[in-house]
Amino acid sequence: MIQKLTVLNGIIQDAFIDGIPVKKRIITPSGKNNVRTLIPLDLNSALGITNHNTANESPTADGEMHAKYFQSVENADETYTGAHLFVDENAIIQALPLDEIAYHAGDGKGDGNRRTIAVEICENGMILKAEENAKKLNAALILTYPQFKVYKHQDWSGKYCPRVILGRNSWTNFVADIEAYVESAGKETSKSLETPWKLGGVQYARDEQFIEDYEYWLANIDNSMPAWAVFIIIQKVTEKIRQELLDSEEKALERIQDFLRESGGEK
Ligand SMILES: [Zn+2]
Repeated sequence: MIQKLTVLNGIIQDAFIDGIPVKKRIITPSGKNNVRTLIPLDLNSALGITNHNTANESPTADGEMHAKYFQSVENADETYTGAHLFVDENAIIQALPLDEIAYHAGDGKGDGNRRTIAVEICENGMILKAEENAKKLNAALILTYPQFKVYKHQDWSGKYCPRVILGRNSWTNFVADIEAYVESAGKETSKSLETPWKLGGVQYARDEQFIEDYEYWLANIDNSMPAWAVFIIIQKVTEKIRQELLDSEEKALERIQDFLRESGGEK
């Protein structure tokens, strides 16, 4: 199912979005800030997602290839361009941190470049499958940043992009399908919260002070947990057990001392 993502320093931590692998191929900054702009993009006030088509029908032009290509563009220091995410029929590739501005919308210092995340839909293979994956990615991002809206490149600069979706006259359907995914994900999450053992587990962890942000874990009840969170919880549980053992040892000692004192007093 499609869920809210865990994003740490702009990097998606989830290994899958509804079964689609999410791979990290973050471009390494080099020379000029032409692909890696290093300019912060505030995700909490960002406007949403701008969808593109790669305009490359070559069979090898998948998400991985585009991430590699953009690394070479970054190294060459000539062209100012970029995209955060590439989606093909098999995978989602993250190439830039989500909290960094990318040049993709063709509107210079406008809202497209500065306040939206770029999703590039690959045209190399089964385009409808790639589009479906892109819809799920858009939905997951909206679940993560609820103020997000769905845009197309054309909204910012007039460019005929995403050309495949526009060419099929299916932009309205594309957006409607994303909204449907968001809506059904919301329903599934609230259904999960009706499952007593799931809710009970989170409440127990809160009551025992293993977690602090109860609302966060409720919202992420069906998400996989990042490794660091698992380690922190193990640490907290272990510390608690250790403390309880110490306390009970102390009480046992006190009881023995009381007993000795009392029996001594009787003499
Ligand atoms: Zn575009």
